[in-house]
Amino acid sequence: TQAQIGVTGLAVMGANLARNLARHGHTVAVHNRSQYRTKALIEEHGHEGAFVACDTPEELVAALERPRRVLIMVQAGAPTDAVIEEFAPLLEPGDMIVDGGNAHFLDTRRREAALRERDIHFVGAGVSGGEEGALLGPSIMPGGSKESYQALGPMLEDIAAKVDGVPCCTHIGPDGAGHFVKMVHNGIEYADMQLIAEAYDLLRQGLGLTPAELADVFEQWNESELSSYLIEITAEVLRQVDAATGKPLVDVISDQAEQKGTGRWTVQIALDLGVPVSGIAEAVFARSLSGHAELREVSRALPGPSGATAGSAGEGFAEDVRQALYASKIVAYAQGFDQIRAGSTEYGWDINPGSLATIWRGGCIIRADFLDRIREAYEAETKPVTLLAAPYFTDALILAQESWRRVVVKAAELGIPAPGFSTALAYYDALRAERLPAALIQGQRDFFGAHTYRRVDREGSFHTLWSGDRSEVEA
Ligand code: NDP
Repeated sequence: TQAQIGVTGLAVMGANLARNLARHGHTVAVHNRSQYRTKALIEEHGHEGAFVACDTPEELVAALERPRRVLIMVQAGAPTDAVIEEFAPLLEPGDMIVDGGNAHFLDTRRREAALRERDIHFVGAGVSGGEEGALLGPSIMPGGSKESYQALGPMLEDIAAKVDGVPCCTHIGPDGAGHFVKMVHNGIEYADMQLIAEAYDLLRQGLGLTPAELADVFEQWNESELSSYLIEITAEVLRQVDAATGKPLVDVISDQAEQKGTGRWTVQIALDLGVPVSGIAEAVFARSLSGHAELREVSRALPGPSGATAGSAGEGFAEDVRQALYASKIVAYAQGFDQIRAGSTEYGWDINPGSLATIWRGGCIIRADFLDRIREAYEAETKPVTLLAAPYFTDALILAQESWRRVVVKAAELGIPAPGFSTALAYYDALRAERLPAALIQGQRDFFGAHTYRRVDREGSFHTLWSGDRSEVEA
């Protein structure tokens, strides 16, 4: 039998995607550098569908129908290049290599260009949903040529998560577009997690609630417009009791957050593109701050607010925090979608934000009811320049903003760090400001560096002769 697709790299993600494909009736050729993984997959799950076990790349390629589709699920970075180099010489024009790993989109662009020279389609596909998603239905974000999507799309749509019958997979755009949006997805995920963590901290310190009580609060919130996978698992984590100590698990977990890099990439690229993703940046910085044990150690003695009492936040605070969380979350998503638009323009990808919101509704970590509202906003007749200006979100912000301000004030009063909430509110206020102090910055720049400024009342660039008679000249 000829296999419809080959999967190489059978660690947890590759094995689960291969099983998902086989469970959907596809014949899947499977290969892994170390053969024990291939054997284990066949022994444990061979009965789930049609697999062709292959010991070598040559065997895998020989097992595939044409055009061949080879899905690579190995460690991102150099291992991915090594595996591409192993397979590419065995393939023929028109064949496809799909990289489902967490590649940097600039690597994907480089690989796509190099393989295009050899008439091989290279598809960088973002895959979200972790191991469970890979098995039961991930959200898939494939880039690459339109042509490759025709040959590959139906199969990927088949194994993707479905929401209202719509698959969480669509062609994102050429070359690195898929991995780019996966990167920003992860950046948004960082921001969302940070905001939830701040909400937890504010409620715990501000109201003195226990983790179990907070689990109830998040469970209730999951019935509101905040309904999402991340809120749902927050309740589960908070309810978990440590078997060894009998304490809430959250109290025995080290409070130093780790990261694998996609959040950091999002911010690095946002800096290059000039997109203010302040919510995502604060989330990445908050994780690094948490990991700086030495800074935290010597800073413990610094004074906090005098007279602030934990648990004193008072009635209505929980609802205020819920509103603040929602408003801040809208800002984080708006910033992420701005970055996607900027990337799309910079690299000529023509990404459709509405269809992106559609495929993030299921399968991925940021899946949420909320994404339906984003989809609607981008599908409306007048496309919003920023999500904040889309009617549904403007209404939500109007409803939330007083609560949002009270929460940021309360956080400062009590000395509870809330960088995500604060930066989101500052972004909101800066965007809506009639005038920004950037005018003063332009003046300063002109003073020390003759960098010139533009005027509100006339076209052109101007410079004040600061060290002369301070008259203005046209630059
Ligand atoms: P790992 O990232 O742990 O990678 C292990 C796999 O890579 C093994 O199959 C290993 O083969 C193979 N490998 C490593 N180096 C080489 C090499 N030089 N040549 C050939 N094979 C090599 O596996 P995961 O399943 O966790 O992830 C796979 C990819 O999916 C990664 O890019 C990851 O970032 C991405 N991803 C992971 C998610 C997750 O939740 N884990 C979610 C979404 C994407 P061997 O067995 O021989 O060592």
